[in-house]
Amino acid sequence: MENYDLHTHSKASDGSLTPTELIAYAKHCGTDVLAITDHDITDGLSEAITAANDAEIGFVPGIEISITWAHQTIHMLGLHIDPDNAELQAGIKKIQAYREIRAQRISEKLEKAGIPGALAAAKRLAEGNIISRTHFAHFLVEEGHAKDVKQVFKRFLVRNKPGYVAGEWADLEEAIQWIRAAGGLAVIAHPARYQLSANKMRQMLAIFRDCGGVGIEVVSGSHSASDIQRFTHVAEYFGLYASRGSDYHGKHTAYADPKRLPALPENCRPVWTHSDWYAAR
Ligand SMILES: [Zn+2]
Ligand SMILES: [Zn+2]
Repeated sequence: MENYDLHTHSKASDGSLTPTELIAYAKHCGTDVLAITDHDITDGLSEAITAANDAEIGFVPGIEISITWAHQTIHMLGLHIDPDNAELQAGIKKIQAYREIRAQRISEKLEKAGIPGALAAAKRLAEGNIISRTHFAHFLVEEGHAKDVKQVFKRFLVRNKPGYVAGEWADLEEAIQWIRAAGGLAVIAHPARYQLSANKMRQMLAIFRDCGGVGIEVVSGSHSASDIQRFTHVAEYFGLYASRGSDYHGKHTAYADPKRLPALPENCRPVWTHSDWYAAR
């Protein structure tokens, strides 16, 4: 079976590699088809398309859209999107504006907790690209407030902690609409990471499917073997296609390296067999 990795991040959002470096690394990992899915931005895709052509690796232009649903942040992948689609671009501009406001609020809250200078530091670490919580996390590690990124999230950036700011991202329905307008397939990312009750998860997936969503990540860099099993059944129950992605962010990635990512279970219907899927090569 071809090796698909349909979820990775470049420097255009919070990854540490440029799109060209990411393509080279994917090639080194034995990936046959790679999607770059930066958070709420498509800026890395044109460089990636050229690099993928040169490296002779299959490429899928993608995005990972931030959504607020039932007070939770949910991530939705758009795969095989047309990055130039006006409706998609107008949608993600709204999220990018909110991201700036959120960065300011996180910084103010950290300052109140006795940690000044976070916004300037996060901006420096983002190198002119969009600011994410990962950039704040690296700053807090640098300053010795935590030993690693994982600990930062636990101590500072989640609900009831000093740097937590509630999300006000896209609606589930509108994000699916943007992805569809851009000719893409909507896929729920890393479902095991959401703190939703079984009932809420079912509700969310039913709305997702009824609005035209087609897939769910069964294999993710952040999924355990039992998560994979669970979401294989969930995908089958909802008639969703299964996706596979490492969520690789570069060397400091918190999740499994693409080289060690398990294959999709045999009884899954891979998202790349969907009738609207086009091999990019
Ligand atoms: Zn995500
Ligand atoms: Zn991701």
